Amino acid sequence: MATQKLLLLPGDGIGVEVMAEVRRLIAFLNKSGLASFETEEDLVGGSAYDAHGKAISEDAMKRAQEADAVMFGAVGGPKWADVPYEARPEAGLLRLRKDLGLFANLRPAVCYPALADASSLKRELVEGLDIMIVRELTGGVYFGEPKEIVTLESGEKRAVDTQVYTTHEIERIARVAFDLAKVRKGLLHSSEKHNVMKSGVLWKQVVTSVHKSEYPELKLEHILADNCGMQLVRTPKQFDVIVCDNLFGDMLSDVAAMLTGSLGMLPSASLGATDAKTGKRKAMYEPVHGSAPDIAGKGLANPIATLASFGMALRYSFGLAEAADRLDAAIAEVLGEGLRTKDIAAPGQNAVSTSDMGAAVIKAMEQA
Ligand code: NAD
Repeated sequence: MATQKLLLLPGDGIGVEVMAEVRRLIAFLNKSGLASFETEEDLVGGSAYDAHGKAISEDAMKRAQEADAVMFGAVGGPKWADVPYEARPEAGLLRLRKDLGLFANLRPAVCYPALADASSLKRELVEGLDIMIVRELTGGVYFGEPKEIVTLESGEKRAVDTQVYTTHEIERIARVAFDLAKVRKGLLHSSEKHNVMKSGVLWKQVVTSVHKSEYPELKLEHILADNCGMQLVRTPKQFDVIVCDNLFGDMLSDVAAMLTGSLGMLPSASLGATDAKTGKRKAMYEPVHGSAPDIAGKGLANPIATLASFGMALRYSFGLAEAADRLDAAIAEVLGEGLRTKDIAAPGQNAVSTSDMGAAVIKAMEQA
């Protein structure tokens, strides 16, 4: 079995605690022969600022470029509230996304039956929900130029953000989404606002054209982004894969996330382009949550978002679908047995620690 190089960047706060559980899972996979990982570790965020005066060192960036995948914990915290803007903890995350060219953000929203009552929606609407939002991550209105606030002659101010997409940017994110739809249920919803935005018109045209020429066997539905938000909270199970731009993806993925209960349960993957020579793609996997300073250092963090992010790495970077399925099943099993960290425990229910939850998931994998 080929050895895979993985860079672990735990970061700050609970990032360090949840990454410890990934480390234990890797040790189990290596020992059991299910995988062969060689890991390196480095600093990112506030901890990197304390050590190097910047949110990620050049050495860590080099390691990230050389790794087969990066596992990222979380960054930030009140300790670094006043550091210079360019060196703020989040700058490390943005640099990784930018330099690794991670243009596709995959956010699954899975509602485990055992947690259906933790959702703000009725159990029957969310139980068994399993959808994937594919968000374009490096273009659109968050990056388009001009981006400015100017003072007009009248003294009034005018703010401008620019929504901009090229054919190439839309094609490559559409392919990621169609490829996922192909191995899931064969259904893709593409969400934009072609009724009021030129970028939406182009988005719809390009996705339609990629569908026609490369994925005619799949079903493609177009849905306006506002309606998509409404439908996600009305009948979320009608969706399987949804692809959208950076802005709409930011919002729709957060809406979908809340269908599943807690932030501590939400994994994500960010993928770059496939290298034509090696067939590999740059990738980073991280929980959706932040460094949770309010619970950091107390052993209260839920490690499932990070473990499930590692599961996405097994699936999308390392081709280890069987190990990924086993991990997903182990998570469902421990939840089914009633094990809960504090964030997903019902009032009055006993909660286990971060390491107890990690150990239980690994034990369930061992016994599978
Ligand atoms: P947060 O996600 O850290 O926490 C929000 C709430 O959810 C908190 O009450 C926290 O205790 C809880 N929570 C989060 N993850 C949890 C887990 N795994 N288990 C149990 N409970 C969990 O968001 P925030 O409080 O807005 O931000 C805290 C810091 O994290 C800030 O410095 C922010 O900039 C940073 N942040 C970083 C990232 C990242 O690294 N990707 C993402 C979001 C926020």
